[in-house]
Amino acid sequence: MQPHDKRTEEICSEFAKVFDGKPTHVAIAPGRVNLIGEHTDYNDGFVLPVALDKDVRVVFRPRTDRRVRLYAVEFDSWADFDLDSLAFNNDVFWANYTMGVAWALEEAGVRLAGLEGVVSGNVPRGSGLSSSAALEISNALALLSAAGAPDALTGTEIAKAAQHAENVFVGVNCGIMDQFISTLGEEGQALLIDCRSLDYQRVPFPDGASLVIGNTKASRSLANSAYNERRAQCEEGVARLQSVLPAITALRDVTSAQLEEHSGLLSPVVYRRCRHVVGENERVMATVAALAAGDLDEVGRLMNTSHESLRDDYAVSSDALDAMVDAMRSVPGCLGARLTGAGFGGCAVALVSKGHERAVRDAIFERYSKAMNIWPDVYTSPASAGARVMPID
Ligand code: ADP
Ligand code: MG
Repeated sequence: MQPHDKRTEEICSEFAKVFDGKPTHVAIAPGRVNLIGEHTDYNDGFVLPVALDKDVRVVFRPRTDRRVRLYAVEFDSWADFDLDSLAFNNDVFWANYTMGVAWALEEAGVRLAGLEGVVSGNVPRGSGLSSSAALEISNALALLSAAGAPDALTGTEIAKAAQHAENVFVGVNCGIMDQFISTLGEEGQALLIDCRSLDYQRVPFPDGASLVIGNTKASRSLANSAYNERRAQCEEGVARLQSVLPAITALRDVTSAQLEEHSGLLSPVVYRRCRHVVGENERVMATVAALAAGDLDEVGRLMNTSHESLRDDYAVSSDALDAMVDAMRSVPGCLGARLTGAGFGGCAVALVSKGHERAVRDAIFERYSKAMNIWPDVYTSPASAGARVMPID
């Protein structure tokens, strides 16, 4: 039996308050930060995320019927539904992730059982560190475990089911990266994911560096419509390029040289969107090579170039994200910094030489707050473990 930490114990106390008795298990799934490879996932490309030491967890015990009763601590609200009558619920939004995951797991062929549990998370919500995927994956592992089928699906299948739930049941158009890294992350490792084949490769996170994440706390209100518009622009780029490159099915298949050669087929805006995606895929592979060679300066340079490309070509940065990145880069120990996640708000991530984390943090509080008149949050996290379920004694 593994010892449980303070947070799990606290959630178990909540469980005792809202249900009679004790939970039998805890399912834990982390949030994530993407080192590089932004807006590449839905273009069948490459991403390089790490799992964070922040997570959503659910303590639970199985039921013998098909009823699911979950209490969410941060929302002080209930999801209470029957697995045989799943329907979108506008009043309790978070419950749709739970219902969606249940629906998608059954679609994937697993017969589920009910459970009762308490959900609680410390992944900042709506900040681009993917609290939604952490919620989905923790719920998926809890549902599978309660059904006595913890090994019915592979990690990849669980991630796909959770993405399907978010796309179809919740109605959010996301790629596969977040669910994938939350499920399959590993301590000390980044994960190179091929978002077409879903092949993945562990890439050791360098000993000499840390991640510092700055949360702009700025509104992401533009993010949804812009995200859908960018996706449409990428599709338009592919459709036009197919007239001369019939074998391509996504921007993943296009090289920088091909894009330059055929740029005349594209409107200036669509060309710039495509140039970001094609260049970003190449930067992910260059980052993996630089990490393998221990060349952290090069990794930092690639992260900086990624930010410039997201700002100028893909146009998904914001004053707040640019101010955050400037603040991070003002410290000499910062090797590179970029916006992370979909953009328009949320977080930026810096790769920082060990020992300089504090200085970067101080610079963020000092400079960002002055530039934007917003008090930010700053997190540091090692590359952490992916999702797991453990018994509670
Ligand atoms: P992000 O994934 O970037 O954090 P999203 O808007 O995609 O932002 O997901 C945030 C939503 O996920 C929240 O509004 C809530 O519905 C759900 N969620 C996240 N964390 C929790 C939690 N601890 N408890 C219940 N629901 C949560
Ligand atoms: Mg999300």
